[in-house]
Amino acid sequence: MKNLSIIRKCPECRKLFALSKGQTTEIAREDTRVVESLTQPHLKGELHQMATYHVAGERITYATEYVCRHCGKTQIVETSKVNKK
Ligand SMILES: [Zn+2]
Repeated sequence: MKNLSIIRKCPECRKLFALSKGQTTEIAREDTRVVESLTQPHLKGELHQMATYHVAGERITYATEYVCRHCGKTQIVETSKVNKK
């Protein structure tokens, strides 16, 4: 999951470290495919091979509210994560 602490600056008043994290809501969930890669053992005389395959997964999108303690503006930040099923 993405690190939400990277959002440290209010886009409105430009104050640093002013945003306090509010509610996180799940807003979407969709089926997707997750790419897995599998590295083959290195065999003598053969090229290093990388095999990729797909597994079933789901992408979940969240909206997180950040409220500025200085100007009171609310920012909505969307993040998503992909889980293997
Ligand atoms: Zn602000």
